[in-house]
Parts: sequence; structure tokens; C-alpha cells
Amino acid sequence: MKTLLSCLLLLVTPSLRAQGTRYEVSFPNAAHHEAEIVATFSQLPPAPLRVRMSRSSPGRYATHEFAKNIYRVKATDGGGAPLALVRADPDTWEIPVHGETVKVAYTLFGNLTDGTYTDIDPVHAHLNMPATFLWAKGLENQPVTVAFQPPASAGWKVATQLKPTEQPYVFTAPHQQYFMDSPTELSNFSLREWTVANPDRKPLTLRLAIHHDGTEGDVDEYLGMVKKVVREQQAIFGELPDYDFGTYTFLQDVLPGNDGDGMEHRNSTIISDNASLRTDKQALLSTVAHEFFHGWNVERIRPKTLEPFDFERANMSGELWFAEGFTNYYGELTLARAGFYDAQRYAQSLSGQLNAVLNSPGTYAFSPVEMSQQAPFVDAATAVDPTNFANVFTSYYPYGCVVALALDLSLRAGFRNLTLDDYLRAVWKAHGKTEKPYTVADLQQLLINVTRDSTFANAFFRQHVRGHEVADYRALLAKAGLLLRKARPGVPYLGQPVGVEGERVVVTSGTLVGSPLYQAGLDRGDVIVSLDEVPLRNADDYQTVLAKHQPGDAVNIRYEHRGTTRNTSITFVENPLLEVVPHENASVPLTREMKTFRANWLGSKVADK
Ligand SMILES: [Zn+2]
Repeated sequence: MKTLLSCLLLLVTPSLRAQGTRYEVSFPNAAHHEAEIVATFSQLPPAPLRVRMSRSSPGRYATHEFAKNIYRVKATDGGGAPLALVRADPDTWEIPVHGETVKVAYTLFGNLTDGTYTDIDPVHAHLNMPATFLWAKGLENQPVTVAFQPPASAGWKVATQLKPTEQPYVFTAPHQQYFMDSPTELSNFSLREWTVANPDRKPLTLRLAIHHDGTEGDVDEYLGMVKKVVREQQAIFGELPDYDFGTYTFLQDVLPGNDGDGMEHRNSTIISDNASLRTDKQALLSTVAHEFFHGWNVERIRPKTLEPFDFERANMSGELWFAEGFTNYYGELTLARAGFYDAQRYAQSLSGQLNAVLNSPGTYAFSPVEMSQQAPFVDAATAVDPTNFANVFTSYYPYGCVVALALDLSLRAGFRNLTLDDYLRAVWKAHGKTEKPYTVADLQQLLINVTRDSTFANAFFRQHVRGHEVADYRALLAKAGLLLRKARPGVPYLGQPVGVEGERVVVTSGTLVGSPLYQAGLDRGDVIVSLDEVPLRNADDYQTVLAKHQPGDAVNIRYEHRGTTRNTSITFVENPLLEVVPHENASVPLTREMKTFRANWLGSKVADK
């Protein structure tokens, strides 16, 4: 996808402008979430033309049936005469007989603001391209032009990583891969631009296009925060990626009714939040830090498994523990380094990640590589049948994040002057700047190169990347004066998830392997009638029984399972929830060595450069 770009840019010359695909987009029924789209395909060979909607979207790994939201599909020739059109499969339309030019017109419905779908509304058109545009098979390498016609007097501007033209609403892409990777926001957004100088390079322009509920003062304050994140991440790599057309764009949509989401793209990110720019600036920053880091890790440092992106089926990658997990780690670490998190707040963030991994049964059965390969079933995937993911899946976001944490702390503790930043810089030089896609074996070799210790590097990948051994987080965090401990010591626990439906206490989904409920044989849908002979009608009844017991106590549990009542014994265990606490907040000594270790790790890197 990326390597194609430089050579294909040469194709976008005026003499070839007529070739390829041109889209005209208008919004006559925005109130009811419809757009009208006309796609013109030119200089076609005589073979039947097949046009289709995508089934996947860059950065989102489940398949999505985007064809379900287009209708009134019609084909005409260059002069406007109707052409026969056959629906060949759920996503594909065929025009068997045609001349050099075919126009396909259709109505698009879209009503979801996130990083994958499209929202057409009087307040904006929030367009993710695979959800919006059908495309022609065989024309993937040809240039694309898109012309928007915003509703009259809507005052919409356009924000996108697409290449602008002299006409304000007309943009181009060198080919289909770039076009599909270029989400576009049309609205009355606030715009801020600033320039960042790369060492030995022309200056790069960064843009914040934010559609929001706040004041221009809120935007300026928020911009200052975003710039801090940018500087801190630039300091890790020593430079920003050489963005195409010299520009990177934050497309941010902060409005009621949005889904919370962030999606990385080659020279932009699209972030949506159901929040307020007035009151939630710092919370919004977390997604910004994650997505901007993707500008290096995923958009330039790219797994071979995702090259090129396939828009017809799910894209599977065994590297998401690195692509997403290491990005997760650096997103939060950047917020600490930029001064948005103190030690206590950063420790809280680590608590969340460690709980998601160490208290997930899947961690003890499957590796980060295997979990990455599950993404097509979990990344905004929908299904009507239940899964056993609670027991066999650990998200590659926290899983990869704690692998990064283990590697960073191991390097800092075991190697003089070596940190995960050094490793990331080595990956950047070998695979990011060069845009040479990587494999897990490449990442392992680079760890050998950086550490000059093949025993350590090979063992780390064998145990924690290809295998599922859990690192000694307690010992590693102690180096930085952070205590990993049980958050609810001595508190009895039966297992998640127990909820209340009406006047019944029910097991709301599959029970977790190893938990008392699981051991006792209870599972999804079972109703707990009584515990320790106390009838249960609500959460208070349940808590009252728990409060009377200690871990290790065995009591009778009576439950209904599909119409039958059963009795068994259940043994309380200690609540497994973990927390990370700075030593100074836990009355544990914080040595000078620990203070220095922590400062080197969590302190700003901007001044170093
Ligand atoms: Zn991500």
C-alpha cells in the first residue's frame, strides 16, 4: 500500500486526469442521513465492468457489509443513456456491455460517527471511504478524484489527507489504496495549523480540524495540549514521518451521539467522541496520543501481513500486539512524559492494563501473536452467537502493552543505557523510514541487534511474544518504586459476572475459568436463588452474604439452570483485582535508585533532543 505511493504519484499528471475514477458527492437529504453519489469510470476496456462496495476498512479488522447501505444503484453511459446493470453478488454490480465511460449513481445511507462508518447529517458529513464509495475492479491503481457539493449555506469546510486541488471542494488520491485510507470530514469545524521542523528536512504542517461543542478558547487550550503530545512523541523517534504532501491532519469529532473511536491513517487520524471539548480535554488527549503514535508505528512501521490492504475480506495480522499494543503503551507513557499524568495517575493506567491481561484466563493459554490473529472476530465485529472469548481471548491492546512494559523495564534494568525508546528507534530506522514491511522475525532480529544479547532477545520472544509466559511484573515495577499488589486483600469473591435482572441475581455471561462460579458449574443465564441459605433478590443481598465471609469459606449455593433447581458447594477466593501503587503512596520505601529509574522512564524527553 505504502510502497506503491511514490511511484504512482507520478501518474497524477494533467495529461492523465481523465483516467481513473471521479466521484461527485451531494447531500440533498442530509436530514435523513442520505448522500447522492455518482462515480464516473473512464477509459475503460470493453470487458464487463464490475463495481463493488468494500467489506473491510483500513485499521479495522472485522469485515463490514458496507453494501447494505447503498441503494437505487443505476448505470448510464457517458451521454446519460441507461446501461444494463446486474447485481452479481451482495457487494458487486456488473455492467456487461458499455463504452469507454460508465457512470454509476447510488444513494448512500450513513448514520454513525466513528472510525469506520459514515454519518450524513445536517451538522456534518463524516465520511470513511470504504463505507461510502463503490469502486471498479481493475482500476485500483488509477488515480481518484472526488468533488463534494456541500448543502447550500451549510458553511461546510473539508478536512482530509487527500491532495487538494485549485478547486476548494475537489481532492485527488494517487490510487484506490490511498483514497480508501483518507477519511474526510465536511463540517463547520475549527481549524488550527502549525509547522514542525524535522531535522534536515522541509517543515511539516500539522492541522487540527475539530468539530466540537466548545469555544474557540477551548480549541486553543486543547491545541496547546495536543502540541505537547506531538513534541514528546517526536522526541522518541527524533523526527516526524515525512508526511505525503507535507501535511498531517487530526480529524476530530466531539459531539453528543458519536461513538468513541480513533482510527489511524497514513497522514491523518479520525477520532470521534461522545464527550465535550469544554470539560473533557484531557480525556480526549488519550486517543490523540495513541493515534498520533500510529503515524510511526503502523502507518510507516508496517506489518507485512497488512500489505497491501484487502478491501474484499478480513485482513489478518499476527503483529497487532506490536502495532496496537506497543502503541497503547507509548500513548499512555507519552501522557506521563508530557506531564498530564503524575506517578499515581500513570500507575492507575498500568493497573487497568495489567488487570485486563493478568486476570484474563486467555493469557495463560495463548500468545500475543495468536491473540492478534483473532482481531477479525473482535475488532468491532458483530455476531448473534455467544463466544467463549472471556476465557480464550485477551485483547492484543493491553496484552501488547504489558509486553512492551516488560521489555522496557527489562532493558532499563538489565542493560546499561538501553530502553524501549532505543529499540523503537531501531525499528523506525529499519522499517519505518524505509517503509519496508516487517515480520515478527524482523522484530526479534532487531532486539538482538540493539541488545547485542541473542540469549535475552530470543528468550523474550519465545516466552512473551510467541509463547504465553507471564513476566514478573511485580519485580520489574519495583525497580521504579511501583508496587503491584491485590487491590482488595481479604475480600471474598465468587467471580464475574453477576448482575441483577428484576428481582433475580443472575450470571449474566460465561463464567471465568478458575473462578468459584466456574468451579461450581454455574454458567451464563443461571439464576442464583440463595447463597449460604440467604435468598438473593438484589445486589445488596449478594453483598451482605459476601461481607460475612472470608476467602476459603465454603457455602451452599442454590441456583436455577434452565428450569431445574440445583444445589452445590462453592468456595470463596480472594478478590483477584490488582493495583499498581507508587511506593510513596503505600508506605513502602522509595530509594534514590528507584527515583532515578522512574525519572528516566517517565520524565520528559523533549529537552534531551
Ligand atoms: Zn490503535
